[in-house]
Amino acid sequence: MTATTDVRIDLHAHSDRSDGTDPPGELVAKAARAGLDVVALTDHDTSIGWDEAAGVAGELGMGFVPGMEISCSDSGAAVHLLAYLPDPAYQPLAEELRTILDGRVRRLPATLDRLRELGIDITAEDVRRGSRPAEAMGRPHIADALIAKGVVANREEAFDRYLSIGRPAYVERYAADLTEMVRRVTESGGVPVLAHPWARHSRRILTRETIERLVDAGLAGLEVDHPDHDPGARAGLRDVVTELDLVMTGSGDYHGEGKQQFPLGGEVTAEAEFARLTARAASNAAASGRRTPVPMLP
Ligand code: AMP
Ligand code: FE
Ligand code: FE
Ligand code: ZN
Repeated sequence: MTATTDVRIDLHAHSDRSDGTDPPGELVAKAARAGLDVVALTDHDTSIGWDEAAGVAGELGMGFVPGMEISCSDSGAAVHLLAYLPDPAYQPLAEELRTILDGRVRRLPATLDRLRELGIDITAEDVRRGSRPAEAMGRPHIADALIAKGVVANREEAFDRYLSIGRPAYVERYAADLTEMVRRVTESGGVPVLAHPWARHSRRILTRETIERLVDAGLAGLEVDHPDHDPGARAGLRDVVTELDLVMTGSGDYHGEGKQQFPLGGEVTAEAEFARLTARAASNAAASGRRTPVPMLP
């Protein structure tokens, strides 16, 4: 009998530097305990957790991929773009991330005004108390303040009643142009992959034609196996991946206590697809001429 040596790889997870709840190092330690061999840290719009996560990964002999999930928009709709191994010091990327992070902070008072009009009194200090380590402040932190005040039971209820688009406390914020961001990530030496492309409303925006156009700008892959994708979405995306010869990833989108139904390693990426992704990172890095991060392999 031959022992199976399946390598388990999860390429999308959030720490408390954005809207997850575990510190980056703790996230990596949990990934090891969950039986993962490789984990990527993909906080929203920031690389600030990379060093801590990489340090713990090194101690544990875990594979680690530095990444981020960048807030973009296409045709007025929000789209999340995963960027693996980009150089965060590449000026056109760094500037755009700074603008996105500033937009996140600027939205907070407007959201709190809306809540106040609804008779809910939450202060910026209430939100900051719960979100302190976060570089990327977001609606989930406002949700946490609503939970702490006893207004809602969990983040899900906060979004459904107040914070989702179309709900009374929703306020828009700045997001980067999707095509432009695909270019910037590629030019920085990183690998752009569309996050959960056919979750909820985004299936109408990210059509096959749009994806083809993004591939021309440098898009390398699609996140196919994701908890927000139903079997029909996964099957359709597999067809697109095959037709356009893209990298296909699978990931759990872990947020710690923030999304309890999304466990670490809840979905995984095949080893051969991961090898294609790291090969693409190496060629994009060489083309960029920049000193980009390299993946730590287990
Ligand atoms: P923001 O980054 O501030 O626009 O908030 C978006 C984040 O909120 C996403 O990255 C999700 O992690 C989280 N989120 C979106 N919808 C929900 C929901 N219905 N329940 C819990 N978290 C959500
Ligand atoms: Fe999130
Ligand atoms: Fe996302
Ligand atoms: Zn995510």
